Amino acid sequence: MSKFQVDENGYYGQFGGAYIPELLYPNVKELEDNYLKIIESDAFQKEYLYLLKQYVGRPTPLYLAPNLSEKYGAHIYLKREDLNHTGAHKVNNTIGQILIAKKLGKKRIIAETGAGQHGVATATVCALMNLECIVFMGEVDIKRQSPNVARMKMLGATVVAATSGSKTLKDATNEAIRDWIQHPEETYYLIGSVVGPHPYPDMVARLQAIISEEIKWQLKEQTGKENPDAIIACVGGGSNAAGAFYHYLDDEEVKLIAVEAAGLGVDTGESAATSQLGQVGVIHGSKTILMQDEYGQITEPYSISAGLDYPGVGPIHANLFESGRGTFLNATDDEALQAAFELTELEGIIPALESSHALAILGKLDLKKDDVIVVNLSGRGDKDMETYINYLEARNK
Ligand SMILES: *Cc1c(COP(=O)(O)O)cnc(C)c1O
Repeated sequence: MSKFQVDENGYYGQFGGAYIPELLYPNVKELEDNYLKIIESDAFQKEYLYLLKQYVGRPTPLYLAPNLSEKYGAHIYLKREDLNHTGAHKVNNTIGQILIAKKLGKKRIIAETGAGQHGVATATVCALMNLECIVFMGEVDIKRQSPNVARMKMLGATVVAATSGSKTLKDATNEAIRDWIQHPEETYYLIGSVVGPHPYPDMVARLQAIISEEIKWQLKEQTGKENPDAIIACVGGGSNAAGAFYHYLDDEEVKLIAVEAAGLGVDTGESAATSQLGQVGVIHGSKTILMQDEYGQITEPYSISAGLDYPGVGPIHANLFESGRGTFLNATDDEALQAAFELTELEGIIPALESSHALAILGKLDLKKDDVIVVNLSGRGDKDMETYINYLEARNK
């Protein structure tokens, strides 16, 4: 039994569990009793792998970036999750969960979204499977992320505004949970990262694990060895990182580097560097590390990148942090922006702002010329063009 995988009680070390209202217990229990059976069944595997190949476009390439490698003096490979249908890793998870929802006989899918990326990935698979889709989104986020709201609507989803509190992600989460309590029988709650009550973090990690499964054979094919010296991934809730780390958790010679968003700087009060600033608490139904005030109220995080703007980390990462198995670093808004332009100029690839945080760490590592480094390029930058153009114009003034 791995120290870094979930245990039979739903915990990673001291983190995880299912801290949920009693009314939701039957739903979570139903999922817990069935998710492994479903995921491990031949029928599920066949359909999941078929859709990942023919609908999503997997396997995604593992690309040895020559110019980036030369610049940093090591062999730097990019795992191209940006080339997935819908432009990021999130669809690996939504494809898997929609198949699980169908197996459980659910007809109505609910989700919450911050930037709208998970909402789009959920609306996409609901359109594919012809299921009703309701996405909760903070009123402020609906205004900030209008292109994704338009995509969700075109895909047939109903977008419901969360108007309480700060009108952002955590309020949308509260609305989704409230809806789930009101419609427990027919509704499936599709969570977008390795967060939420057990079994969600483990289920999502298994569905994203396809990333490291591919890295292993692709590296073997290209270098003769399955194991890189390090894997670097950005962490919001932590699903792309969990997927990129999954098959390496017990290979302790592979360094696992998780990169959080430092926003304007870790000590400025405007950041999302959860492991550096957070304490143990309960968020979204699981015990983990989260940013909170002296009364235990969740504090509003900040990052230029909407996907990393989350006040907690999934329990798998809280355990990687506490045990020292993971190395937790961070990059500021500015460092991420510079890294985005650098990758674009050197390799002709425009990365998502989230992924740019992982790239920004390359310059802070002590790399040797034989090192093999994999950076998980979690998504593409189309959604961030406005931010990039504004930065370019400010830089050229
Ligand atoms: C949503 C998102 C993230 C952050 O989510 P994780 O669960 O931490 O992976 C990172 N990169 C991209 C491109 C995203 O869309």
